[in-house]
Parts: sequence; C-alpha cells; structure tokens
Amino acid sequence: MQGEGPHVGASTLFIRLGACDLRCRWCDSPHTWKPAETCRLETKRGAGAFETLPNPVPIAAIVAAAERLELAAHAFVSITGGEPLLQPEVVAALAAALRGRGPRIHLETHGLAVAALAQVVEQVDLVAMDWKLASDVRRAGESWKAQRPDFHDEHEAFLRVAARAPEVFVKIVVTPATRDEEVLEAARRIARTAPRSVLVLQPVTPRGGVAERPAPGRVLALAAAAERILRDVRVIPQTHPIYGVP
Ligand code: SF4
Repeated sequence: MQGEGPHVGASTLFIRLGACDLRCRWCDSPHTWKPAETCRLETKRGAGAFETLPNPVPIAAIVAAAERLELAAHAFVSITGGEPLLQPEVVAALAAALRGRGPRIHLETHGLAVAALAQVVEQVDLVAMDWKLASDVRRAGESWKAQRPDFHDEHEAFLRVAARAPEVFVKIVVTPATRDEEVLEAARRIARTAPRSVLVLQPVTPRGGVAERPAPGRVLALAAAAERILRDVRVIPQTHPIYGVP
C-alpha cells in the first residue's frame, strides 16, 4: 500500500533497489544504503512471508514474484530504494518488463541523478521526486558539522527532465531544522520549471537523527506561504505508522 504522497492508500507493489549516495537524517531505510548480498521476495500477497535469494535477482524472477503477488490487481509498481537511479539500467529493464501489465510504473527517487533519469524517463508513468534540503541531508561521506551548499540547481535540472513523464510530483520532508527560505526557494523553482507539479510537504516521522515533528502551526504556515507561489500544495504525513506497517 502506498504510504505517502498524493497516491496514498493506492495498492502498490514495491521493488527496492540497494545503495544510496545520500544520508538523510530521518531515513527510514538505512539498511538499503549498501548493496545487500541477498534479496527478500514476498511469497504471498499480504502474508508477510518471504523467500531469500542471492543478488542480483534476474528480472524474470522479479516479474514472476510480482505475478504471484497479483501484479495486475495493483494500481502501481513502485521502483524505490535506496536510490534506484544509481542503477538506471535495472530501472529500465524492470519498467520494460512490468509496464503494460496493469499497474502504473512509479519511480521514487531522491531527485538528483539527472543523467540517469534521462535514460529511463520515457519508460515510467510517474516520477515521485524528493527535494532535499541542506538542513537535513548530506552526501554520503560529507560531514554533518560543515555547512553544505543547497541542492536547488540539481533538483531544478532533474525536475526539468522529470516533467517529460506523464505525472511528476515533488515531496519535501519538513523537520524542526527546516528553514522556511529553503522550502520557498524550492517552490519558486518548481513554479518556473514544472508549475503543474503537486508539492507535498511531509511532516517528518521522527526516527534516526530526528526526534521531533515540526510544530503543526509551522507546517501550515509553510504550506500557506508555498501556496502563494504554487497552485497545488498539500500537507500529507506518512500513513504507515498509523496502521502499524514499519
Ligand atoms: S535518499 Fe532515501 S534511502 Fe537515501 S538516505 Fe535519503 S531517505 Fe534514505
């Protein structure tokens, strides 16, 4: 089930690719930061039972597993990570094998790998991109103590390519450390690059290096300010924790 973003609640099969070159303070999947030697495949829809196979798992085996999980009955297949665009050839192969079988192909990405996106954007139905803020995100290996430059230029270039997909939306995770100007600069750049994109402000789910949610009044004020720049701004928290899915 999709747990966040404008398609929250839609039935979704997730394919999670290993490795990530960012470090977000709130990351809910740090086990994906490094490539794993094995892969877990769910064996029956909703049963919570898995088989374990050595990596890399052949595309045909992933498609067969998806068929066992009632692929055609789902609204989306989400290719996620980690950061899937670190392996664009795998994203392209998965999309080619799964597209046209029912679900829409949903690519979930940190929104920075522009050249990799250009290789696959024609093969996906939806690009769900994050807009990372320097207040809470580092490249792997960067110090948390040093101030880092923002990611705005890379994200804007990425969004320009992502806008070639049938649907794109942008998500910003808001934490107590988020600075208003970071969010508003992102909104201004979205407005000039892909103004019909939905901007989702997602109050952080406390975990990892983030202990608290932002104050509700602050999130609503940020949304109101962003709405003066963009026409479709939504505040949508993660829903998995509400019904107990990790
Ligand atoms: S980009 Fe995603 S997988 Fe990578 S650190 Fe951030 S939240 Fe975690």
